[in-house]
Amino acid sequence: VRTVVYAGNGRFSLDPEMPLPKLDEHDVLVKVRYCGICGSDLHHFQATGYAERIRVLGHEISGRVEDIGRGVGKVERGDRVTALCDGGYSEYVKVIQDDVIPLPDHVTYEQAALSEPLAIGLRSVRDSGLRLGDKAAIVGTGPIGLYTLAAAKAAGALEVYVSEISPARREAAKRMGATAVFDPKSQDVPGELKRRGVEGVDVVYDCAGARGTLKQSIDMLKRGGTVVVIGLSGKPDEIDTRWFFRAGKVMAIPAAKELWPMSVELIAKGKIDPAAIISNIITLEELPDYMQALQKPDAHVQVLVDPWGKRF
Ligand SMILES: [Zn+2]
Repeated sequence: VRTVVYAGNGRFSLDPEMPLPKLDEHDVLVKVRYCGICGSDLHHFQATGYAERIRVLGHEISGRVEDIGRGVGKVERGDRVTALCDGGYSEYVKVIQDDVIPLPDHVTYEQAALSEPLAIGLRSVRDSGLRLGDKAAIVGTGPIGLYTLAAAKAAGALEVYVSEISPARREAAKRMGATAVFDPKSQDVPGELKRRGVEGVDVVYDCAGARGTLKQSIDMLKRGGTVVVIGLSGKPDEIDTRWFFRAGKVMAIPAAKELWPMSVELIAKGKIDPAAIISNIITLEELPDYMQALQKPDAHVQVLVDPWGKRF
């Protein structure tokens, strides 16, 4: 089984002959159609030693059930599924049945691979209390920022502004229906909002979590608004307690797995299309070099790995 493994020191390599995983009673063997690359996780994985322990990364998976353990009742061989577990950078992945969702007919494999990161956008918007007709802003439109943008629009936000340093990601935000996009490096974003008659938005989603982006979020917020922190860089940042007199609420979003089934349903009903942000689909052979390139993620939006190509 061709599999991309973590080789240490931030490097990945292709192992052409990994053994096929053995199934326990409640396991499902999934033939991987696509696996999303969660680029922002890469640093985190390396920093915590996670990659060394897990070795095969990739957790945003779609595919077809190849085999099942004796105790599996949720899916059958041949079912189309989305799966959430490590090990997706491979031709096959073993997953416990609790971490598999069968796909409705009109959900494509491309969409299904992105249903779990979309759930983070859904959770952010639901927990933020965004209401129909509100104005919102997103700081940082990598994949999670773009899914949050899509969720805010689906939830009835009147206007959604975007602040993003990467041109490719600003373009993606425009395609996803942002009201206006700004480059915080060259533009005074709160000033630009004022010029449009916006004294501050109701909710700001900080999907960058980089140094200074919380301050930037507060600056775009109206008095009493809500700031939702979604991106985490893991680096300490300075906080001025006066910010809290401006923000009515500052909150963080933990994991969103419980909204994953809803994410699949919203895709099936045509409410949100996470596949609209796919920028590139690559092979397992291309993946090791790609992981290097992703250390500078600015040019990339959402990348999928396709282990089989036409042979799937
Ligand atoms: Zn992810």
